[in-house]
Amino acid sequence: MTKPSILILPGDGIGPEVMDQVIRVIDWFGSNRNLYFDITTDLVGGAAYDKFGVPITDETVAKALKVDAVLLGAVGGPKYDNLDFSVKPERGLLRLRKELDLFSNLRPAQCFDALADFSSLKKELVAGLDIMIVRELTSGIYFGEPRGIQEDNEGGRVGINTQRYTTNEIRRVARSAFELARKRDNRVCSMEKANVMESGILWREEVQWVHDNEYPDVELSHMYADAGGMQLVRAPKQFDVIVTDNLFGDMLSDVAAMLTGSLGMLPSASLGLPDENGKPKALYEPVHGSAPDIEGQGKANPIACILSFAMALRYSFNELDEAKRLEGAIDAVLAKGIRTPDLMQAEDMKPVSTTDMGDAILEALDGSL
Ligand code: NAD
Repeated sequence: MTKPSILILPGDGIGPEVMDQVIRVIDWFGSNRNLYFDITTDLVGGAAYDKFGVPITDETVAKALKVDAVLLGAVGGPKYDNLDFSVKPERGLLRLRKELDLFSNLRPAQCFDALADFSSLKKELVAGLDIMIVRELTSGIYFGEPRGIQEDNEGGRVGINTQRYTTNEIRRVARSAFELARKRDNRVCSMEKANVMESGILWREEVQWVHDNEYPDVELSHMYADAGGMQLVRAPKQFDVIVTDNLFGDMLSDVAAMLTGSLGMLPSASLGLPDENGKPKALYEPVHGSAPDIEGQGKANPIACILSFAMALRYSFNELDEAKRLEGAIDAVLAKGIRTPDLMQAEDMKPVSTTDMGDAILEALDGSL
């Protein structure tokens, strides 16, 4: 039988440091759960620019199109800040998202019990929190035309961006949200600004259409995105799956993320259309960036990247029990008070290094057998 394939792109800054720990976890699943993967490693972002003069090569994109899942660390860093826009490290990631047509971005906001005190909200509001934000990723105002900065008629300038959504773009991301909801608490809340934007009216109508025609069993509600932002910090546990557009999703998923503590804890998945076997093209990556301020110091928290692999186990490899095993191991490590510097809660806590955190997670995985 062929092994499922993963393309690993560690990228820049702390990307390679956290990815080293993920590779140890992947090896653990081979040795202990008979779950072997065909792994290829390649360059993206600044690392690719340094070697090839582009943030991702055509060959790497071709590999990404072939594998079952791509796992990415992070891209970017001050060294590349002054590069031309077209070769900036982030363009590598954007090209991957575009070529794989990854239109559905999944951002879970899940509060591990041991970190409930860590949230900026009261413990009782976040303990046990488990919501999933589905953000449309390939259209909307970040891509719409016309765009640009032009001279206006009064001697000044005008900045233009266009919010634009088609029926097909809205329906496919809505389907992705309804599918997820069926595997969770069966509830979807769709957010837009139908009160002031035509694209919001269309969004609401199309999400409702997909619900009524294809997913009548899932509970659907609609909320204006600004009210949604308020509700997310007032009573976040009311939500199960939230589906929203690119711009509102960008902001709402960051708000939801902070309910649960550190950037170092947040995974994400970006999915495309399912193929004939029902498997979507997929890219998994931590939400955080390359964190140049802590690069090379052993301070990076590898959990966001390891949880991104847990999402790959669940959404690309259908290994739900193994995903739970991995998340359970992380929960157990945090419950013991083992923390990287970003998760310090009390004066008497002693931080561990990136590798120590990897060791502790592997030990907890051993304990799960
Ligand atoms: P960042 O996420 O890299 O860092 C923000 C803060 O969080 C920093 O203080 C950092 O030390 C901390 N942090 C982030 N990840 C951490 C982890 N795993 N463990 C412990 N602490 C962690 O965001 P930034 O500083 O705004 O950006 C740095 C670079 O990363 C920029 O070049 C930016 O363009 C890029 N970036 C890339 C991505 C991506 O690859 N998807 C996302 C965001 C930013």
